Amino acid sequence: MDRPRVSVASLGGTITMTSAARGGPVEPRLSADELLEAVPGLVDVAEVAASTLAAVPSASLGFSDALAALEWAEHAVRGGARGAVLVQGTDTLEEMAYLLDLYWDRPEPLVLTGAMRTPQQEGAEGPANLLAAVRVAASAAARGHGVTVVMNDEIHAARWVGKSHATNVAAFTSPGWGPLGHVVEQQVIAAPAASRWPPLPRPAVPGDRLRQHGRPRVALLELALGEGPEMLLSAVHAGYDGVVLAGFGAGHVSAAVSEAVSDVASRMPVVVASRTGAGSTLRHTYGYPGSECDLVDRGALMAGWLAPRKARLLLWALLAAEASADRLGAELTRRGSTPVPQAKA
Ligand code: ASP
Repeated sequence: MDRPRVSVASLGGTITMTSAARGGPVEPRLSADELLEAVPGLVDVAEVAASTLAAVPSASLGFSDALAALEWAEHAVRGGARGAVLVQGTDTLEEMAYLLDLYWDRPEPLVLTGAMRTPQQEGAEGPANLLAAVRVAASAAARGHGVTVVMNDEIHAARWVGKSHATNVAAFTSPGWGPLGHVVEQQVIAAPAASRWPPLPRPAVPGDRLRQHGRPRVALLELALGEGPEMLLSAVHAGYDGVVLAGFGAGHVSAAVSEAVSDVASRMPVVVASRTGAGSTLRHTYGYPGSECDLVDRGALMAGWLAPRKARLLLWALLAAEASADRLGAELTRRGSTPVPQAKA
């Protein structure tokens, strides 16, 4: 029987981390080939090609790693792979998934996975996650869904997924929406694919130069009780190109911070998201200083349903593509305001 081809690449993360001495601290050591060796059942599912792109903890991944992974995945599916699986650390997995999803314009699934437990821990779930991810990447049911995250036998949309527990194997959730699908008894079960926004243009500066320039830089600042405007103003002095505020409730700041928003928004884009972890920012409900109506009047953009981390990546991608102010506002509004994309007819 002809098996589908699936390409797997590894960037590192706990799934690849072992200790030199029994019981000692772990570091990324395993290659993509070694990860595959730990999953003998893969041969029944797909013909798998492995590449090791990096071996780092995911906190040390950056934009140029994401763009390199994107090129790798595109090359794989252009070469005939039914889908691609990217293995990485779970700490920034939700961010990599969303960033890649902004650019992924192929019908083939690009699936991200990792593990909460190291390969040497009892109950290590890395091999099961990798097997499920390859099943999803090879499956017709996952086509058209863009970039997804497969962890713990659940399939999550890049747009909604987040790591919501520091250590539990069920750490990945899509608050307010739930998973797109499941892997059950070797079957991939997923909701019908929805229509997707067109891909964003790639950064005007190539990936390797992005690393050297370190630009654009977008600050993500969380508002907290009693916080004054100093932190927001310091983003201007530090030379950031844009700011995302993880605001209170439905996208609010204090009266003191709102005054600084007028000043900062006249120099760079200021996007206000909700720090609550689920739900949308509002547009026309509250009118007090620091409310959404006041912030929009002061030139801020509201993130809608996008979580602060995802709004930061969207703003980064738009600035990296040198989008005009009008395009920037329009993309934030449409990508943030649609709660669920329209299902395909
Ligand atoms: N610290 C690890 C990382 O993100 C955590 C993990 O992979 O689960 O690389």
